[in-house]
Amino acid sequence: MTIRMPEPDEAVLARRGEIVAALRAIVPSEGVIDDVDALCPYETDVPTADRPPPIVVVLPETTDQVSRILEWCGANGVKVVPCGSGTSLSGDALPLADAVLLGLSRMNRVLAVDHEDRVAVVQPGVTNLAMTRAVEGRGFYYVPGLSSQIACSIGGNIEENSGSAHCLKYSLTAGNVGCAVQIGGGTGVPVVHTVELVDWATGGLAPQALSHRERNNA
Ligand SMILES: Cc1cc2nc3c(=O)[nH]c(=O)nc-3n(C[C@H](O)[C@H](O)[C@H](O)COP(=O)(O)OP(=O)(O)OC[C@H]3O[C@@H](n4cnc5c(N)ncnc54)[C@H](O)[C@@H]3O)c2cc1C
Repeated sequence: MTIRMPEPDEAVLARRGEIVAALRAIVPSEGVIDDVDALCPYETDVPTADRPPPIVVVLPETTDQVSRILEWCGANGVKVVPCGSGTSLSGDALPLADAVLLGLSRMNRVLAVDHEDRVAVVQPGVTNLAMTRAVEGRGFYYVPGLSSQIACSIGGNIEENSGSAHCLKYSLTAGNVGCAVQIGGGTGVPVVHTVELVDWATGGLAPQALSHRERNNA
């Protein structure tokens, strides 16, 4: 069965040039993709769906750019679909023909690692495997090591609450992400996630951040 996508808003499609120009004013031009052929890799994350390419793909590198993109699109009635690595297979990252696809893959930096407390602060486009690579030298790993870990992103893992065999003992993504901050239009809140790390040898004690969160959730 093919998943049918909603009919696009022709009024928005007619503003394609204006939308692309506005995004180019925010993100340097190589981070804005509107060439028909170059849009193809972004057209679907599931084989049994319609494959409408988005109006444009925008690949911000900073929190400020994400904030300004969301602010402009919100103010101008343009839909935004976020996308990590597009591996979900579930149609969740499917673009809409009359939407902007916000690709977070260039926001791929591990900003801080605290080995003592076993937490790291990362941008959403960090891949699952890159998270473990960043800490394995000190004997740590990031628990939800998916089969797609070489490609999938922490942001996508959070949205899907993804898991792996390790999660039978240490919980799915939701149990390993201490704090996930998504920003709305115009806010200055950093786009970062705090992820917990586990000691290979022992599994380790519950880090303070986890205990604190559990207390807050109680
Ligand atoms: C070969 C293969 C193996 C797989 N193995 C596993 C497995 O072992 N376990 C498992 O659970 N899944 C697995 N998956 C599914 C998939 O990899 C996971 O669902 C993964 O978490 C998706 O991450 P992504 O970065 O590709 O997200 P995407 O597909 O890009 O996006 C998924 C959803 O997250 C949203 N999103 C992405 N980034 C952000 C962000 N920064 N902010 C807000 N929303 C965002 C998107 O809009 C979409 O709704 C596998 C897939 C493949 C192709």
